[in-house]
Amino acid sequence: MKTSDELSKSLTAIDGKGYGAYKSVKGSYDLDDFVLHIDHVQGDPFAAPSRLRAVFAADVAGIPSDLLGPPVRKRAAADFLNRRLAGELAAASRNRGSGKSGVVRILRPRQCVLERTSLAIGHDGTVTARFVAGLPARGRRVLGRQADEMLTSAIPQALRRVLAPATGELDAMRRHADLVQDSAALRDALGERGLVAFVPDGAILPRRSGVDDRPLAADRAVVFEAPERLRVSLEAPNRGTVTGLGIPEGITLIVGGGYHGKSTLLRAIETGIYDHIEGDGRELAVTVPDAVKIRAEDGRSVAGVDISNFITGLPLGEDTAHFSTANASGSTSQAAAIAEALEVGATCLLIDEDTSATNFMIRDARMQALIHDDDEPITPFIDRARQMHRELGVSTVLVVGGAGDYFDVADTVIGMRRYLPADLTEQATDIGRRIETERVHEGGDWSPLRRRAPDPASVDARKGKKPVSIKIQTPTRVLFGTQELDLSALEQLVEEAQVRAIARALVHAAERHLDGDRTVRGALERLMGEIRERGLGVIDRRESGDYAAFRIHELAAALSRLRSLQVRSIPE
Ligand code: ADP
Ligand code: MG
Repeated sequence: MKTSDELSKSLTAIDGKGYGAYKSVKGSYDLDDFVLHIDHVQGDPFAAPSRLRAVFAADVAGIPSDLLGPPVRKRAAADFLNRRLAGELAAASRNRGSGKSGVVRILRPRQCVLERTSLAIGHDGTVTARFVAGLPARGRRVLGRQADEMLTSAIPQALRRVLAPATGELDAMRRHADLVQDSAALRDALGERGLVAFVPDGAILPRRSGVDDRPLAADRAVVFEAPERLRVSLEAPNRGTVTGLGIPEGITLIVGGGYHGKSTLLRAIETGIYDHIEGDGRELAVTVPDAVKIRAEDGRSVAGVDISNFITGLPLGEDTAHFSTANASGSTSQAAAIAEALEVGATCLLIDEDTSATNFMIRDARMQALIHDDDEPITPFIDRARQMHRELGVSTVLVVGGAGDYFDVADTVIGMRRYLPADLTEQATDIGRRIETERVHEGGDWSPLRRRAPDPASVDARKGKKPVSIKIQTPTRVLFGTQELDLSALEQLVEEAQVRAIARALVHAAERHLDGDRTVRGALERLMGEIRERGLGVIDRRESGDYAAFRIHELAAALSRLRSLQVRSIPE
């Protein structure tokens, strides 16, 4: 392998040459205590920066066995190092010429602790950092000396400060791992306690703003405190007993006046599928892993989805057991979202009336009297919620401020008042008995959903001569080949790197897992299994530090939103 000196020599030798000369430095270099790989060299100073990888051997990184052991601690340790490295590499980043010259960047984690390809720890303790660097140029001429300073001095120093050894802040790293391990353990414990979610006493749920996911300043936030009757104690391996609100399986309503904190509580439940960092305010707020936020999304495309449990007898006689449209309505989009979530194993639906289609959620007695059942294609959610719990074991947590008819189908009613929860189950049940709604139950038996087998040829990211073209336009909108893929309705995505990974995973699914016969669930479970076994990097043949972990739910939801998707429907 070449040495650091040889890299310096190569870089000074190409000083002043055309930018293409940088291609000659692609390769691997032994920098004594770690190996630097230049995996991809950008074509010009304005193109996406070059891809680099640093590999620190286990004995150099020195991560102790208690942080390599349970996978959850290893994930936490990697997340910790990624956060530190993001700071150090940002400090090494500066303008060193034209375009992106001198830029150094690694994925910057946000409030959640995710597996990411930007920093991976091997089973043996090897640490790999994947990041990008803009190789310096003036105009389109190589700035060899600047490149030398950057690649053999500034970047290695930044890397060493965090990774050689990786235990410089061992106490802080252990605290991070303890928290993440506790969070994961609480989540694991939900099932046996008959809960779908847990929000600890002392949590800070509100965020700084609609575009800033950090917690609201402590002096402005009302601290969360569970009502006595819904308070549970759970055991965490490191910090012991934790108390808080336990949301039971079944149908739970979150009610309360406008602006009293309903959606904020639901949002905490939505993101409880992830572990949060210390200081987030939602540490140890956990939700069952297969809880899926459902919302209306009119205008989306739907490909062959069985929405017949919610919608039958459309005006033009469309087959709703195999329903396709390029332009869904609010209600059909919400019905499709539920069917798609169930298709890949959702166990809990999270719904906010703020983002729901009213006619999908409820049809009250007066409307039932005016519009005959035969003329209304929709069986509203209120008439399916209990059935779904009874027959499929699928729970629902639902924010309602307006539709008291839901009291009749609720097992638990949580009232938010001035940002604090109360147990209103008894009062709501009592009111349900005293004030009858006179609405009649609609809909018959639940019919098992038809499954879908996607055609891999319809998952196509080609563009011009490029076999794969994926461009992230906004954090939630992707140009996938030549089509726009809008993931803004997938509210449980928390990092752009997840969107990037999902888009890439769709290509991988089409190449490796979809064959025209495999169902959405069959194919995507194979893909998720491959990731579990071999790491998130399997979705891309190239070395890339751009990816963060995602669930099968968001992957399937993205597949379902591809406007080109073609499926064959398989009766159950
Ligand atoms: P709702 O859904 O009941 O209308 P939201 O959950 O949207 O209410 O909350 C309304 C506002 O109150 C938001 O700006 C939110 O950030 C803020 N908020 C929510 N919970 C708290 C809290 N615990 N302390 C302080 N402000 C809060
Ligand atoms: Mg709300």
